[in-house]
Amino acid sequence: MAFRKITPQDISQFSNMLGDRYVLTDAEQLERCSHDETEDLRHMPEVVLQPGTVEEVSAVMRYCNDRLIPVTPRGAGTGLSGGALPVLGGVVLDMKRFKKILKVDKENFQVTTEPGVITQELQEVLKSQGLFYPPDPASKGSCFIGGNVSENSGGPRAVKYGVVKDYVLNIEMVLPNGDVIWTGANVLKNATGYNLTQLVVGSEGTLGVITKIVLRLIPAVTHDLLMLVPFYSATDACKAVNDIFLAGYTPSALEFMERDALEWSMRYIQSAGIDLPPEIQAHLLIEVDGNRLEQLFEDMEAISAIMQRYKTGEILFADSHEQKQMLWALRRKVGEAVKSNSVYKEEDTVVPRALLPRLLETVKRVGQEYGFHSVCYGHAGDGNLHVNIIKANMSDEDWQNKLPQAIRVLFREVVAMGGTLSGEHGIGFVQKSYMDIAFNDIQLGIMKKIKDVFDPKGILNPAKIFVN
Ligand SMILES: Cc1cc2nc3c(=O)[nH]c(=O)nc-3n(C[C@H](O)[C@H](O)[C@H](O)COP(=O)(O)OP(=O)(O)OC[C@H]3O[C@@H](n4cnc5c(N)ncnc54)[C@H](O)[C@@H]3O)c2cc1C
Repeated sequence: MAFRKITPQDISQFSNMLGDRYVLTDAEQLERCSHDETEDLRHMPEVVLQPGTVEEVSAVMRYCNDRLIPVTPRGAGTGLSGGALPVLGGVVLDMKRFKKILKVDKENFQVTTEPGVITQELQEVLKSQGLFYPPDPASKGSCFIGGNVSENSGGPRAVKYGVVKDYVLNIEMVLPNGDVIWTGANVLKNATGYNLTQLVVGSEGTLGVITKIVLRLIPAVTHDLLMLVPFYSATDACKAVNDIFLAGYTPSALEFMERDALEWSMRYIQSAGIDLPPEIQAHLLIEVDGNRLEQLFEDMEAISAIMQRYKTGEILFADSHEQKQMLWALRRKVGEAVKSNSVYKEEDTVVPRALLPRLLETVKRVGQEYGFHSVCYGHAGDGNLHVNIIKANMSDEDWQNKLPQAIRVLFREVVAMGGTLSGEHGIGFVQKSYMDIAFNDIQLGIMKKIKDVFDPKGILNPAKIFVN
């Protein structure tokens, strides 16, 4: 599809729709919206629009659809697969003005929110009313709930509470042609027709622009306990993960960090943090939560006994709120720490949980074969390993040409294990060339036809998910 460049007439039309101050063409704003948190990628938009109402989004979409102008929706720009990058220029639709929590329905355990609310702020407002919305990406302090819905995000608590899709009941969205629809109903069960809501969750801004979200909530949990378990062997740490579930326990978080991950994070946030003897190769960060403290202590004791089947260092039980915060900060900052260290590429592999040790070994073996160093960490309880491939001394030539081959080999092995390419970061721009490993032509054909139904002119977030 040949898209049209934006003209001064378009800019004045956008100004009529939104008001001058929400039509941004200055270098600073264009630069801000030219990147997200994916590697060091930059793609300049021609204009940034900041609509404030669903009617304004609709007017912009209708206008751009009629004139073949590409539109890329943007949340907080924390994405890790380049979903918010305007790779073909055009409009970035910046959703930051959609920041109202519209209705907390305590009786029905639901909230209706706009998509530009920061996830942690939403969680805090709900918590103050005794309500709990569990999905908590490590970026929760900055990402938007609309971005989370678009990516079907996970996070540490997914292991016990599930991911975003498990909480979305209904979505208001603007279609590329400007029509506005709700996808479902505000009910806990729904067997009425195709499930458009779940189709839109995780669609990475390619089917419509989300303008309202209805989420299911649960009662707030009162207590949690946290421990950090050091392992002499990273493979053992991965093996220990499944033992916990086989023994009948479901932690509220079960995170894996290779030695480098924790060490780099400690250095990055300049935290004395914890003692890290040279023989320790990996850690598990394990949280349990619930309403009965005695039960949680018993669970922690049982889990630490399971850990003793392996060669571990001294287990650290966080004994204060501050210590818990410190341990979580170390885990949450790993991504940023890696980024500050070297050019890197992040993969988001996921396999059936029991195969996690094999996944780690495969990553390391492929790394040796192709000459790359990786720092691995992630949501071990979900079988979800973030593989940060470090450029370090790799030549530009190898980085450009050899690394994609290595990633293909890795992904093929992941899929052969019954796993897939991305557990939570999405496909977006940077993983689309690997989709043929996860899906055959028939499956990809169905997905492309779905895209065509929603967006026949292909103006919404073009060049994402599919190679063509
Ligand atoms: C340090 C760090 C830690 C992270 N940890 C996690 C983690 O633990 N788990 C996890 O799942 N992810 C994690 N992420 C990735 C990222 O934070 C999530 O993907 C998040 O959901 C993106 O939200 P956002 O608001 O920043 O969206 P953006 O990056 O702005 O956009 C993401 C996608 O959503 C689309 N989009 C955004 N808003 C809308 C809308 N209103 N309508 C339609 N489409 C829209 C965009 O077009 C794009 O395709 C992490 C990222 C960082 C930087």
